[in-house]
Amino acid sequence: MRRVGLFGGSFDPVHLGHLAVAACAREQAGLSEVLFIPTRVSPLKQDLPPAPDVDRWTMVVLATLEDPHYRAVRWDLEREGPSYTVETLRLARRELGSDVELYWIIGADNLLALPRWHDVAGILAQAKLLVVPREGLQGAELQRVKESLPPEQQARISLLDMEPVRVSSTEVRARLNAGMPVEGLLPRLTVAYIERYNLFRPADS
Ligand code: ATP
Repeated sequence: MRRVGLFGGSFDPVHLGHLAVAACAREQAGLSEVLFIPTRVSPLKQDLPPAPDVDRWTMVVLATLEDPHYRAVRWDLEREGPSYTVETLRLARRELGSDVELYWIIGADNLLALPRWHDVAGILAQAKLLVVPREGLQGAELQRVKESLPPEQQARISLLDMEPVRVSSTEVRARLNAGMPVEGLLPRLTVAYIERYNLFRPADS
């Protein structure tokens, strides 16, 4: 059966860590495709107001355009309310049909928050979870986080192996806001888009 990876995030902006996560998941779980799903962002969670949906969407499109295994989908941007994963998975099933296996991809920091996710049982009934190491949470420590979860959840969770890529959207936004360079942290076309459309700069620049 075809295996499809679903990778949700605020992608504010998309960075090379995200692409490394997608590549790792694709290779290690044998995925035929990874769908990038920009979510709506809670203004309460951000240090600065998030980039508009249309910009976050465009940056993800540009970052994934050159790899035929990647595709951006607008599912979460087009629906009202918070982007609950359990709902996104229902939508994915409707869109992709019954003959695909769904895999939900997250960074290790998100596994820590799993007990607080809405309807974890509903999520894991629909998809297996692929967890990619992130700086500060890898190896034995990550394994311990998984083992702290109920056994029926652990059975649906795979820890993948990757040398962590040290980058976050928060760091990228802070660097841009301070006028510092971001080459080496972002895909080439994302840098070009940010520069051309003057994103993530202080309001008075
Ligand atoms: P922010 O700094 O704004 O919180 P972020 O860099 O964590 O953003 P998101 O778009 O929120 O980026 O992340 C989407 C998903 O990608 C999450 O599951 C997150 O854990 C994962 N992720 C992001 N960056 C990395 C990274 N460098 N290594 C591993 N996973 C990552």
